[in-house]
Amino acid sequence: MTDPIAAYEAAMRLALAEARGAGEAGDVPVGAVVLDASGAVIGRGRNDRERTADPTGHAEIVAMREAASALGAWRLSGCTLVVTLEPCTMCAGAAVQARLDRIVYGAVDPKAGAVGSLWDVVRDRRLNHRPEVVAEVLADECGAVLTEFFTRRRVG
Ligand SMILES: [Zn+2]
Repeated sequence: MTDPIAAYEAAMRLALAEARGAGEAGDVPVGAVVLDASGAVIGRGRNDRERTADPTGHAEIVAMREAASALGAWRLSGCTLVVTLEPCTMCAGAAVQARLDRIVYGAVDPKAGAVGSLWDVVRDRRLNHRPEVVAEVLADECGAVLTEFFTRRRVG
């Protein structure tokens, strides 16, 4: 039997690689992948707001778009979104709209998190569809990528 947390850790490492790529390109380092029901990666995304001048260019949105395009359907039922930082209101809303089964995130975002911190957009009892949430997978590593980025930016 596969350990689900170990499986999420492997996916989180892929998301971390996306995050580092975003940081190297000058964007805030957040990365995401979408897994299908079998655990295969069907979407990858990194924050590309600066590069694309797109306010919706968050890692989760980019990864969900790629996953939906791979499936040929907007509905991502059975899929899991794995992201290095707790999603914001926009991305949490998009995850609900996409009917994702599960959101797995790394670092908690106390300033803007919408999956349990500042808001809990995905587990509002008034919603019909509420994705399962697995928080703080490789949280320290995910947080460190962000801290390093902002420290370097302040120094540089
Ligand atoms: Zn977002």
